[in-house]
Formats: sequence, C-alpha cells, structure tokens
Amino acid sequence: MNEEPKYILAIDQGTTSTRAIVFDHAGQIVATGQREHEQIFPRAGWVEHDPLEIWKNTRAVVGDALVEAEINRHQLAAVGITNQRETAVVWDRTTGKPVYNAIVWQDTRTQRICDELAGDEGADRYKERVGLPLATYFSGPKVAWILDNVEGAREKAEKGDLLFGNTDAWLVWNMTGGVKGGIHVTDVTNASRTMLMNIDTLDWNADIAADMGIPLSMLPEIRSSSEVYGVGRKKGLLIDTPIAGILGDQQAATFGQACFEVGQAKNTYGTGNFMLINTGEEAVRSENGLLTTVAYKIGDNKPVYALEGSVAVTGSLVQWVRDNLGLIDDAPQIEELATQVDDNGGCFIVPAFSGLFAPYWKSDARGAIVGMTRYITKNHIARAALESTAFQSREVLDAMNADSGVELTELKVDGGMVKNETLMQFQADLLGVPVVRPQVIETTALGAAYAAGIAVGYWDGEQDVIDNWAEDKRWEPSMDSETRERYMRVWKKAVERTFDWYD
Ligand code: ADP
Repeated sequence: MNEEPKYILAIDQGTTSTRAIVFDHAGQIVATGQREHEQIFPRAGWVEHDPLEIWKNTRAVVGDALVEAEINRHQLAAVGITNQRETAVVWDRTTGKPVYNAIVWQDTRTQRICDELAGDEGADRYKERVGLPLATYFSGPKVAWILDNVEGAREKAEKGDLLFGNTDAWLVWNMTGGVKGGIHVTDVTNASRTMLMNIDTLDWNADIAADMGIPLSMLPEIRSSSEVYGVGRKKGLLIDTPIAGILGDQQAATFGQACFEVGQAKNTYGTGNFMLINTGEEAVRSENGLLTTVAYKIGDNKPVYALEGSVAVTGSLVQWVRDNLGLIDDAPQIEELATQVDDNGGCFIVPAFSGLFAPYWKSDARGAIVGMTRYITKNHIARAALESTAFQSREVLDAMNADSGVELTELKVDGGMVKNETLMQFQADLLGVPVVRPQVIETTALGAAYAAGIAVGYWDGEQDVIDNWAEDKRWEPSMDSETRERYMRVWKKAVERTFDWYD
C-alpha cells in the first residue's frame, strides 16, 4: 500500500525560466528544478518564447525536482501551476504544434491593433467590461496578430482546429494528454489578463472577441483557481496526479504572501514589478492607472479581486546592464557596483523598453538615461538602474493609496530582486513605510502549491497559508521626507522625457 502523499509540486512557468518546486506541509521548499529558456528578439519591441522548449523544460524540471527530493508521483498530493500571464500561445489541437512562437507579455508589436481597436472611443473602450485599458500587454490583441499574420491560421481557427492559452493552458493541455485528449482550461486569474473576459461575470465576452476577430472555439474553459481540472497523462512522471491549482504568477504570489484581507498588498520584484492589493469581492475600477484583476477564486467560492500596478521593466534592466552593457557578470554583482557610490550622482534611468505600464500606460514611451554629466561612472549607472525599480514602485503605491483611499502601512515583498538589500533599503526610504520580506521568497510557486493543496484537502484553507507565513527581514524607512519628495520630483521629470518617442 502507498503511504499518504506528503508533498505538493508547483510548476512556475516564468518569463525567464521554468521551475518545479516540491513543498512540504509547512510550506517549506524540499527540492527545486530550474531551467532558463531562450528569449527571442526578432525585431525591436518583439519578444517571443518557443512553447515547445517551455514544455520540454517543464518535463525536465519536474524530473529534476523529484529526483532531488527522492520521491515519485505517489508522494505527491497534487500539482499546482503558476505562469507568466498574458503571454499568448496558439496551437493546433490536431498536431499539438504551436502555429507561431509564444508572443510574450512585454512584446509591443500589437500597438497598431490596439490603436485601431481604441478608435475614437480611446484606450479605455473596454475598461468597464474587462477592467483593463487597451495595451500591447494583454493577450487578446496578440492572438489577433497571430491570426492576421500567420499563413493559414485564420482558416484553421475558424474550422475549430486552433487553441489559445497563456502558458498555464498550454502546459495543462500537454500534461493531461495533448492530442490524445488534453483538456483545454484556464483559471479566472489568467483569463482576466486577456481583455476577453467580463470581469464581473467571469465569462468570455463574445463582442470583444468578435471585435478582435477571435473565434470563441479557440478559448479555454474558464475555471476557478483551486479545483481538480484533470490528472497527469498516462505517460511521463505525473501519471494520474491531480492537477488542482492554476494562478497567474502575480496572483499566486499574492496568495502565497497570504494577502487575504481587503487592503493587504504585496510587491513582486522579478523581470518586471507587480504590486497587487486585495479589494475583496468588489471589482474596483481604477482612476489612477491600475488594473482591475481577479486575485483568486477557490472552487465554488466567490471570486476575490485586486487592483494591480504592473511595471514592465525592473529586474530585466539588471539583465540589460549585464548582457547589453557588460558592466556585470551576474545580477547580484550590481549591488557591489552600486554601493561604491553614495548616491546616483544625479543620473536617472527610465527603462521604458516596452513603453510605460502603470500608472502611465504609454506604449509610445521609450527608455532614457538623463542627468548625465562628465562625473557619472558605471557605479552611478548601476545605482540608477537599481533605483529605477524603487521609483516605479513608489508611483504605483501612490496610485493604490489614491484609488483605495487607504494608506498602506507596510509592504510585503518577494521575487528575485529582494535579495538586494541596497534596493530594499532604498525602497523603504522612498515609500516611507516598512518593507517586509518573508522567509520563503518563492511565493509565486508557493501560492500555486497552496491553491492545489487546498483543492485536494492537503491544506484546509487560507488559515494554513497565514499560519505558515513567517517574516525574515524588515527594512525601516530612514530618509527624511524632504529628500524623498525631491527624488520623486526629479524622477517624474525624467519620466516625462520618455513620452511620445516612438512613431
Ligand atoms: P521571473 O520570475 O520574472 O523570471 P525572478 O523573480 O526569478 O524573475 O527574478 C529574476 C530577476 O531578478 C532577474 O531579472 C534578475 O536580473 C534580477 N535579480 C536577481 N538577483 C538580483 C540581485 N541580487 N540584484 C538585482 N537584481 C537581481
């Protein structure tokens, strides 16, 4: 007889890599597998991934994690999935092959499609229905681009042969059998990033899909974030293992950070930065450039909503300093460079590489380094690169305070960049509230694990998540308010320099 399953497996299909993490009942990491995939930049502003490489890496990292943990599927109670949101995969259900590379969330090629859809009504044309402004960020226009530009794609789509999904749906379809009976589902959080889901009823909006020329037959079934969708296919490492949780990466981190009360917020520092504040059962429409999104839905319970401030480029600016400027060999080295100077020397970097997301939503902005003098060294550039993450997050926090009418009293943080203590201190200084890092900073994977574990009764519910959450470190603000506001004034001036650049 098999023993009781002791663990949950989370698959975190991120922008730069795919991870598989085995968690125990205390929410602690037992083993990890991780592989990076290629970032494909065919033209300025275009960013693609190969969905087959992602599927191959997923199988590999699951194997790596299970080997490291010295367990097999019999010790797994369930699998949860979290993923880069908005990134659009379109594949042929009869062959299992993608018809085009995945178009990544950062990709700006759909600018013209978005402008045409906006027409005279403007970028907020669909905001009341879907909670989002028209922007290149979201999946719907990316699917429209594929149908318009890939030969034969539209005909196949109209015949019912093509399927669309974010990478969650792509993985679940493959994991549950692919061409041999894979199920085509997504969860409410991923669906809320497509521009195609009605944010109040949680159904696909046929009118908007028609405006974008997307047949409804391509769209996955929308399910809750925590339920058994299916089981692992008859081949592979996860045979018959329940796949029981799906959450978009930022929603997963919000869940893993135990932000279950209205007004609780987290900020994730990864490729980009994403701050979400829980607004409860109300889908609050933002007046200040934030997105209305679904935070999670547990089984048949009512959905819980969030306001989100998305910043496109933060950690990826550090990658750019590494790969394109060659100033550092790896990301953590940026801290050594930055701490050799006391301040940025007057230099500010606005990394509007994909336009500006929250709170500006200016697709035609492009990046700028300003305040340059003969005095500036690579150390100042490194510092300015780090500081840009903190400035952008402060602007998002201001928008959240304005929308919610409540001042946030502390900010929970996670993601790859929060190991950077210099950045965390500067962030606390700029916000004027403490910044708090939990012991497990893999909150994205953790959130997906909790969603899956709750669905199969491995955990009882949100209280287990709250009980397992533990603080690691807290940074208190130490900057005087005059200095803080002076920084913000100059930052805003720098941001304005990036507007209306692209034509
Ligand atoms: P994602 O889940 O979006 O792929 P992660 O949460 O793994 O990203 O974070 C990785 C990002 O964090 C990378 O963009 C990297 O440049 C940045 N990063 C990692 N370590 C550091 C560090 N010590 N200082 C600054 N940035 C870092």
